[in-house]
Amino acid sequence: MKKGLLIVLSGPSGVGKGTILKELMKDEELMLSYSVSMTTRNKREGEVEGVNYYFVSKEEFEEAVEKGELLEHAEFVGNYYGTPLKDVERLRNEGRNVVLEIEVQGCKQVQEKVKDALTIFIVPPNMEELENRIRGRKTEPEEIIQERLAKAQREMKMMDQYKYVICNDDVDLAVDIISVIIKRHMERANKD
Ligand code: 5GP
Repeated sequence: MKKGLLIVLSGPSGVGKGTILKELMKDEELMLSYSVSMTTRNKREGEVEGVNYYFVSKEEFEEAVEKGELLEHAEFVGNYYGTPLKDVERLRNEGRNVVLEIEVQGCKQVQEKVKDALTIFIVPPNMEELENRIRGRKTEPEEIIQERLAKAQREMKMMDQYKYVICNDDVDLAVDIISVIIKRHMERANKD
């Protein structure tokens, strides 16, 4: 069986990665599996352990790093985030295309380890729109919102490390474009 693709989806906080991903996951033909990350940040309302994240303590996270259990890891606005290696490998070996929804530092590490990773960066139509979306979420205090906005500005400067940059002006269109990209890469991988 052909090994599945490794897909990295990044973009500033609030750009709509979650919504796009939810739509993409509905398409069986894409054979996507979501890689659940490990994080030290607090659980938001509605988030489920093992579905959205594995919520761990700082000590547990550091232990996973030491044992080499993470494909990549990074600090984001005061918390650690990382991708458990074991799940990614198992799913790819089962032929699933594994999606990592991670930030830019993590993507860089993935690109060093997995040369043929399919990397996609989502951009907002403009920064005002992004600010409205981050504020609209109403889940974080002003201080964190400010940090996330500053981080978004910095992340936008790093989009050139990605193979594809897609504007999320229209969710359905962004989903269609990304579906086509993934399908083309699946065809290409099958020919190799
Ligand atoms: P949030 O706290 O909003 O869920 O995520 C904050 C940022 O961390 C987002 O940009 C998200 O893509 C990123 N992120 C989530 N999981 C991981 C991970 O495993 N590794 C890295 N490097 N970033 C992650």
